[in-house]
Amino acid sequence: MNRLFDALLGLIYPRRAQCMGCGSQAGFERDWLCEDCRQQLARRWAGPGQPPPGGMFLGAAYGYHYGGPAGGLVRSLKYRGVTRLAPMMGRAMASAFDGIQPTGADCLVPVPMHRKRLRQRGFNHAALLAREAGTLLALPTLEALERVRNTRQQARLSASKRRRNMDDAFKAVEDVRGRRVILVDDVCTTGATANACAKALLDAGAEAVYLLCFAVASEDK
Ligand SMILES: [Zn+2]
Repeated sequence: MNRLFDALLGLIYPRRAQCMGCGSQAGFERDWLCEDCRQQLARRWAGPGQPPPGGMFLGAAYGYHYGGPAGGLVRSLKYRGVTRLAPMMGRAMASAFDGIQPTGADCLVPVPMHRKRLRQRGFNHAALLAREAGTLLALPTLEALERVRNTRQQARLSASKRRRNMDDAFKAVEDVRGRRVILVDDVCTTGATANACAKALLDAGAEAVYLLCFAVASEDK
């Protein structure tokens, strides 16, 4: 019966042509991924992990190790605007965060985009992920941070200048005093962005900050 229904549906809505993990034109079976990518993604599961160094976070959890299909999903969401990926990505994040519960966390705060970039892209991917994960964790999403400086040109700067460039790039625009916050981003690489956001939240009076990302870039994977 299901098969017949799928076949009929296929006539009305032609099958989505591309796997969101590897771009294969063979299409996908489930969760926007071809079978090969689904298996690869499962092997990349991360869960509870080390926060970036700097002592800003009480704990951290990541859906997957970055690369392979995890990278494909992030790029499809961010640069191709496939926002329908957010629910399955948020689901992975919520499961990862469950691994470090209980945390007493009371809200999720997405890493903000600079206004200019937000206008170009039309959505903040981190905010979409926060809302999806938050629904499953039964916690509200609070857009409590603002990016006051566009830090896009980071790559051209030396490490110390980069840190300084990042230091005051964010500010709290909501009252976070006494709150236990889960900072949300798509990928954690050096942790510079995450640390700068956490600092802004702690400076504004947040009691604790946890980090939750869809993927973590680790050197051994
Ligand atoms: Zn694939």
